Amino acid sequence: MKHEYDVGVVGYGPSSAVLVNLLLEQGLSVIVFERDEDIPTSPRAAHFDDESLRLFQTIGAADDLAEYFSKSKDYGVYNALGKRVWGFSAIGQVPTDQGWLSDYWFFQPRVERYLRAKNIKQGATALLNREVIDLTELPDGVVITHKNTDDETGTTQQQTSVRYVVGADGAKSFVRKYIGTSMEKLAPSQRWMIVDIKIHAGIPVELESESWTRVSPNETITYVPMPEDIQRFEFSMKEDQSEDDVKSPEAITEFIAKWFQPDEYDILRADVYHFHSLVADEWKKGRVLIAGDAAHLNPPFLGQGVCAAFRDAANLAWKLARVVRDGASEALLDTYMTERRPHAREIVKIAGEVGNKIAWMASASPEELNAMGREDYKQAKPPLGPGVFDGNFTSAGVRAPQPVLSNGRMLDYAVGYNFALVGDSALISAISSSSMAALKALRVVILADDCDSVRNATAAVGGKVMFVRPDRYLIGVANSISEIEAMAIQAATALGSTVAA
Ligand SMILES: Cc1cc2nc3c(=O)[nH]c(=O)nc-3n(C[C@H](O)[C@H](O)[C@H](O)COP(=O)(O)OP(=O)(O)OC[C@H]3O[C@@H](n4cnc5c(N)ncnc54)[C@H](O)[C@@H]3O)c2cc1C
Repeated sequence: MKHEYDVGVVGYGPSSAVLVNLLLEQGLSVIVFERDEDIPTSPRAAHFDDESLRLFQTIGAADDLAEYFSKSKDYGVYNALGKRVWGFSAIGQVPTDQGWLSDYWFFQPRVERYLRAKNIKQGATALLNREVIDLTELPDGVVITHKNTDDETGTTQQQTSVRYVVGADGAKSFVRKYIGTSMEKLAPSQRWMIVDIKIHAGIPVELESESWTRVSPNETITYVPMPEDIQRFEFSMKEDQSEDDVKSPEAITEFIAKWFQPDEYDILRADVYHFHSLVADEWKKGRVLIAGDAAHLNPPFLGQGVCAAFRDAANLAWKLARVVRDGASEALLDTYMTERRPHAREIVKIAGEVGNKIAWMASASPEELNAMGREDYKQAKPPLGPGVFDGNFTSAGVRAPQPVLSNGRMLDYAVGYNFALVGDSALISAISSSSMAALKALRVVILADDCDSVRNATAAVGGKVMFVRPDRYLIGVANSISEIEAMAIQAATALGSTVAA
């Protein structure tokens, strides 16, 4: 049966905006359904990491967007004795091995608006104020039933048929319910109130330039100096506090009074959030998959929710394209969850532990607080779980570094959203012509480059040549022709093609 679109995406938050971009880029037809009429004006996420910037680079958005981002500031967690006990230090100064800084602050509505505008230019069909209410799976596709969000009688109900559905529909995902999965809980939930304020012109802002969390028995507060002159304060709520207790203008004025007087700022928003640490046990049922918050809920202590959602999009988009466009086996889509879930779980687990530590500090004794050491957080970079590699190749499933090529450009600008074989020219030139032809048929970008940056990058992951996937994870690294050809055969098998050995 001919379907109207290749992929239907439910929800148009940040994970969807990037996924749609990558799918369109590869020539797939995509329709998006979003329940809301417009992008929410209140940002939730405020922080991106180096991998997010690398993905923006891939979709040609990094240079435009980076000017809206403020460079990262240190982040410190302080206990009631004023001791810094945890945090990110000396960030925002030197690019990481990904080619970008480790941390950036951003204003979410601006980024989402930019991504949606880009998608429109690429030909996305986005239906706003359209809520997905049912999915019916066919042998070769899925029928999506949707209606206007405010339609209570169902008169605006319509159906659209697609080959695959991705639910990027957030924490309360309808699509996750359709899949029928349980969720693994990795830490207790916490309630926090987020207040964003804008200081009036001419009022000096004398807060520290770093962001921080200060924990004490009376109150636990996080401060984030956001771009666009927004100051964010996050207040941990006690069990006996209700939303009404903390959200009234009087309560907010009292919270903020340590720093600003009421006539010095406007309140942009005050919202209560539940910070969950949850990962869905199943991410796919038949032709229906989930991504972003629908698949995993990160408490924001590491600022990793959107970053994880972007990794989902980068992992899934090339697999969908290979299956839909190039006839790769549907089994390729099963590797989406086997690869991504262990990675996402590890990040949720670490973020949950930070939340637990903050909660514990609020009631710890002075002796316990005094005994606390200082821990500097080093970005967690877990490998992918098993999937499109058998684990036997050196650094299989590890994040690929991004060197600067001998022409002075960063690697990904030369590669695009493709596979790439990068490194030692002597090894690459020795690949047999039949294998080379087969690699090219798989659209693998081949870059022989012996400059120091490439040599150092490949050596850092254990070899002379690295085989990088479109989502910038490694199939593996090689030190010999036989290893290169073994990796090529494995990639070709996964992608439903053949490579002569
Ligand atoms: C206070 C706070 C601070 C945070 N800070 C950070 C941070 O600094 N860095 C970071 O990386 N992450 C952060 N996060 C997490 C981050 O906001 C989320 O991970 C991210 O928004 C998830 O994006 P998403 O696209 O998966 O889901 P969402 O942004 O929730 O988007 C889902 C969309 O689906 C739509 N939808 C739902 N159901 C349907 C339906 N049936 N039909 C049609 N549309 C539907 C919704 O209207 C919504 O627009 C923070 C979260 C909170 C709460």
